[in-house]
Amino acid sequence: MDEEEQELEKCYIIGCDGEAVKELDSSLIPALQSLKLRLKTKKRPIKVCKKHYSMIKRASRALR
Ligand SMILES: [Zn+2]
Repeated sequence: MDEEEQELEKCYIIGCDGEAVKELDSSLIPALQSLKLRLKTKKRPIKVCKKHYSMIKRASRALR
């Protein structure tokens, strides 16, 4: 049986232990900064958990 290997990364945001399931588009970076969230790494693309992703999405709508 073939098992697909999945790389499960953690959310890049400091203090968060969630699974990184979403990649942040560069257009969402200003929203990330507006939330004053700090990242554990400078790796790109930034990957975040579901919770942070929706938080950032919401913030990006408010920025417009
Ligand atoms: Zn997170």
